[in-house]
Formats: sequence, structure tokens, C-alpha cells
Amino acid sequence: MKPVIALVGRPNVGKSTLFNRLTRSRDAIVADYAGLTRDRHYGDGRVGTYEFIVIDTGGFEPDSSEGIYHEMAKQTCQAVAEADAVIFVVDVRAGLSAQDHDIARYLRSTGKRVLLAANKAEGMKDGPQLAEFFELGIGEPIAVSSAHGQGVRSLIDMALEGLVPEEDEDEAEVDDADRPVRLAVCGRPNVGKSTLINTWLGEERLVAFDQAGTTRDAIHVPFERDGQRYELIDTAGLRRKGRVFESIEKFSVVKTLQAIADANVVLLLIDATEGVSDQDAHIAGYILDSGRAVVIAINKWDAVDEYQRQMLQRSIETRLSFLKFAPLLNISARRRQGLGPLWQAIEASWASARCKMPTPVLTRLLQEAVAFQQPKRAGSFRPKLRYAHQGGQNPPVIVIHGNAVEHVTDVYKRYLESRFREHFKLVGTPLRIELRASR
Ligand code: GDP
Ligand code: GDP
Repeated sequence: MKPVIALVGRPNVGKSTLFNRLTRSRDAIVADYAGLTRDRHYGDGRVGTYEFIVIDTGGFEPDSSEGIYHEMAKQTCQAVAEADAVIFVVDVRAGLSAQDHDIARYLRSTGKRVLLAANKAEGMKDGPQLAEFFELGIGEPIAVSSAHGQGVRSLIDMALEGLVPEEDEDEAEVDDADRPVRLAVCGRPNVGKSTLINTWLGEERLVAFDQAGTTRDAIHVPFERDGQRYELIDTAGLRRKGRVFESIEKFSVVKTLQAIADANVVLLLIDATEGVSDQDAHIAGYILDSGRAVVIAINKWDAVDEYQRQMLQRSIETRLSFLKFAPLLNISARRRQGLGPLWQAIEASWASARCKMPTPVLTRLLQEAVAFQQPKRAGSFRPKLRYAHQGGQNPPVIVIHGNAVEHVTDVYKRYLESRFREHFKLVGTPLRIELRASR
């Protein structure tokens, strides 16, 4: 499970700037898609080889008892509760304030690991300005500049010390075919997660192993279906009660992000009676960022009429357009309808994510695609695409070598993507295309 870092501090100290710096490297990999609105408060962080989840909290006033500030304080407390480490951000230029003291008092009372980041410290390393922050009783202030990136690396090193496994097991080394397929079931409270899981576990063809392995609250349920081993990863909306699961009225973005990160295939459930909510769109955005294989199922299909069905289909096409590679199925967990095709889609998506693409085939497809339609000339340059090879699996990456590749348009890249997708019959997995200039 990825460790979680929460950023806490009063407004304007530089939390969002730090958040953006910690999550930027991931955003750069994933292009912006139409319809994708990112949740600015949660992100996948990466510094060096460390991967973690970052939570940005709003401006925090611990003592507010009503209104928006109260709501923000509540959310901050939840973020702190879910975090493995808290970075308390203060502004060295503005100096220590009464609010900083309040926040420090609260953070000390939580018993969490807290690091004190003295932000905006560019050009004043070890300056006397830092000394006054010792008063907060949090320990030594660590001079950083979120805007310029100074000190951020060692701040994260300290925050994550002992939280990340020493030796990261190299996933690519182990043949995925020998492992159970890890399937995360995501969706808002009440969408039908526990109903679906209980239906699955009650099916005869599916052998559940009666052992609830609980790792940090997430439920991992191993089972087998038609000879294929699976492991269900619940997003902590569920609790085991006897032999069945029931949902607890709680939604945690952090647990959802961790489950997605841990999964091979993500099943996103949408409630037919509610339509696509903002929260659904945010979860879909996290899934896209993760690069995981994904299947979307509209549950409670039994409970809506023909008109509502059409509206739903349309709202998914517009609001989740960035996941249009995902198979879309209509199911009823309660009436056990559509579950066969759902399994087929899950299997097909996982197979697509691991698709092996031989270099000669990729190169031939590339040449055929170019012969059919050349990339546009840009000024006096016409990009020349020479050969292609597979640069990774899960999700598949195709690396294309050529000249003047910086002039290849996004439209053309999508054209190539669709040719490759068609040939390899890829469903449910993102496909990344990287262009490289050959020397
Ligand atoms: P938040 O309200 O805590 O999220 O703070 P923001 O990230 O929005 O930053 C508040 C202001 O401080 C913005 O104008 C930032 O450009 C500025 N800021 C953030 N980090 C730094 C820094 O490292 N150095 C300086 N000089 N300014 C910074
Ligand atoms: P969870 O919070 O995502 O685990 O959702 P639950 O599985 O607890 O389901 C919430 C409610 O939706 C319950 O009352 C279920 O009986 C109902 N529900 C679940 N699946 C279906 C379905 O396919 N059709 C209908 N009509 N109701 C369903």
C-alpha cells in the first residue's frame, strides 16, 4: 500500500504549490483529456523512486465551529487521520503566527509523525528566520522552497523514512500469469459494491477462500473463477459480517486511491438511478492517472426505464469520455444480470493490459498506417516515423522512433493509437504512445 502524506497549514503558506510539485511528474505523463476535471486535493506523488499519496488540505483553523471553516477543519482532521505522515507547512517570510500555534497544538495531540516545513526559504538556508519556529514544539524546521524545489526531496525522504519497503519487489520480473488477478471494486457508497461482491461469492462457479486477510483496513478476498485466481480489493467501503460483506457508510478517497494503485484491473461501478456524479468523475480521473485496466459497469440497470437508460449512456459518453477505451456494461447485481459479460470484460481488459507486441508487427503496422495517411507537414518539416517497439506492459507503451517527431500532432497520435488498438484488439487498457527522435 502506498504511504499517505497530508499537507497541513494555514492559508497562503504554499501548500498547493508543494502539492503541485509533488504530483507534477505524474501529471506530465498523462495528457489532459476533454472532460477530465482533477480533484486538486488528492494526488499520486512521486519524488525520485518514492511513490505515495498526497492530500492537500484547505486552510485550516482548528477552532472554527461553523460554516465553511468548520467543514474544512473536519476534512483536515480526516486527512490527518488517514495519513502516515503530516507535513506542517509554515511561511518563513511571514513569520510565526497565532494560527500556526493552534495547528501545532492540534497536530501534537494526534501523535502522528509531523514534519515542519519552513517554506519560502529560498536564499535563506539556516537563516535566523528559521529559529523562531522551534517554538512550535514540532522539532527542527526544515527549510524548503516549494516554488523552486529546494529541500523538497530531503523533506519527503524524512517523511517517508521507514514507511516504504526497503526492497521494492520488481513486478515485471514475476510472470503475471502465475499471480491472482487483483481486482478493485470502486464506486460511491450505495452503488452496490457489497451486493455485487456477495453475489459473486455466492455463485457456485466461484470458490471463495474463507479467510479475510485484512491489511490496513482494506479487505483482500481471494477467490477462483473458471480456473483463474482473483483477489478482490475492496475500497474499504465494506466490512465482513459473518460470511457476507456489508457496506459501512463511509467513503475514503485515500482508500480508493490505494486500492486502485494495488489493482491490476479496476471495476468502476456507476449507479443507474443516480447518474454520473462529480465523485464518480473524480474516481474515473484517478483511474486514468493510474494507468490501470478498467471496466465500467452501470449497476441497478433493472431500476431505470428506457428514457433514463438513454440519458445515462449519454452522460457517461460526455462526462467519462476520457475512459472511452473501457468496456461499458449494464448490470444488476441484485438480480444477477449481466454478470457473465462483466467477467469476460474483466478478463479481456487484463489480457489487453499485458498484451505482447512484437517489434516486426508494430513496425509493419506503423508503416501501413503512415502509408495510408502521412503525418502533416509542419513548415519545412515532415515527421518521418521509422520503426516501433513495445516499451512496456500494463499499460502497454509503444515507442515510435523517427525524425522531426515533435511535429507529430495529437490528432495523428490518436490515429496511430486507434490503428494499434484495432490490430491487437485492445480493450479496457490505456495505450501510451511515445515518440522518440532517432539519432
Ligand atoms: P496555500 O494557500 O497554502 O495552498 O498556498 P499557495 O500554494 O497557494 O501559495 C501562496 C502564495 O505563496 C502563492 O503566491 C505562491 O506563489 C507563494 N509561494 C508558494 N511557495 C513559495 C516559495 O517556495 N517561495 C516563495 N517566495 N513563494 C511561494
Ligand atoms: P455499497 O455501499 O456500494 O456496498 O452498496 P450496497 O451493495 O450496500 O447497495 C446499496 C443499495 O442498493 C442496497 O439497498 C441494495 O439492495 C441496492 N442495490 C444493489 N444492487 C442493486 C441492483 O442491481 N438493483 C437495484 N435495484 N438495487 C440494487
